[in-house]
Amino acid sequence: MNVKSQLSTLKAYTPGKTTDEVKKEYQLEKIVKLASNENPYGCSPNVLKAISQTNTLAIYPDGAAAELKKAVAEHLGVDQAKLIFSSGLDELIQIISRAVLSPEANTVMASETFSQYRHHAIIEGAEVREIPLLEGVHDLDKMAEAIDENTKLVWICNPNNPTGTYVAKEDLLRFLDKVPNNVLVVVDEAYYEYVTINDYPQTIPLLDKYENLLVMRTFSKAYGLAGIRIGYGVASPALINKLDIVRLPFNTSSLAQTAAIAALEDPEFIEECVIINTNELQKYYHFFDQQQISYYPSQTNFIFLQLSKPAIEEMFQQLLEKGWIVRKFPKGIRITIGTEQENEELLKILKEVIPCIQ
Ligand SMILES: *Cc1c(COP(=O)(O)O)cnc(C)c1O
Repeated sequence: MNVKSQLSTLKAYTPGKTTDEVKKEYQLEKIVKLASNENPYGCSPNVLKAISQTNTLAIYPDGAAAELKKAVAEHLGVDQAKLIFSSGLDELIQIISRAVLSPEANTVMASETFSQYRHHAIIEGAEVREIPLLEGVHDLDKMAEAIDENTKLVWICNPNNPTGTYVAKEDLLRFLDKVPNNVLVVVDEAYYEYVTINDYPQTIPLLDKYENLLVMRTFSKAYGLAGIRIGYGVASPALINKLDIVRLPFNTSSLAQTAAIAALEDPEFIEECVIINTNELQKYYHFFDQQQISYYPSQTNFIFLQLSKPAIEEMFQQLLEKGWIVRKFPKGIRITIGTEQENEELLKILKEVIPCIQ
């Protein structure tokens, strides 16, 4: 079969082992999965109520997501024409890549960062320019240097997945001033709600000044709606109009639209989750300081431990055998912040595991 030759260098996404697989393999009763940065408290009860009341499943959804558009426009204080919705940000990454990239183009991103930017660039045949993180943070100076006349797209994941680190306001502004205005800069703010630090850039007001900026947000993480698939992009109406051409006509389901509207109506749920998350992060910091394990301070609902290759394998495997699924990367392990009880249990287990890996 003749498929694009570049597909031979890629693999389908593997989310890691499922809970059921691990249960069977290690004969465990209880599994805790802290591997995908989902909200351990689920979603707002408001959402469950709203979706249980929908009875329009036989009808195509509103492709323009008009009601949700109105709600998000109000929530952000932006014009409705600046919004595009997608079946999670994964789909928006695909839409943007499809609209912007081609075999003549290149795209600049950090390494390590969210894997889907690279994946879709390669499918489009574009060159990927990966700039190593500098102490865990996007190296914006080097990223700016990597831009040339064939650069069409730059990805900034802020805060960054998998490190949890962030690009400060001043640095982002300096970068945006350097980037030619025909190069699209996408800032992925999947963890926006979890950020508590003061010098984190508020990007929505920057959209008026930088017409080449697109901001992405999702309902999958803090809002706890990863299973229903809904996210969005905010950018100039001219750019949104072009992306809408690439977007499938009914890309977001009516259930997802209803869920997102209901989620926005319960800001207290997010506030509570963020307070607990921030507090729980402190417990992890304290513990890993004591254990002398390096980590990056996080503005998200996960923490990244910097470990040697053998330590990564050993910690990952020992946790797995005890029923705890975390995520491993080439330079460390990422742990999603769980419920208070889960975190307490995990720290107890790590206290036993850590001496065995050093
Ligand atoms: C989780 C995540 C996404 C994808 O989220 P969706 O569930 O597809 O909305 C995108 N970017 C980053 C940085 C993420 O962590």
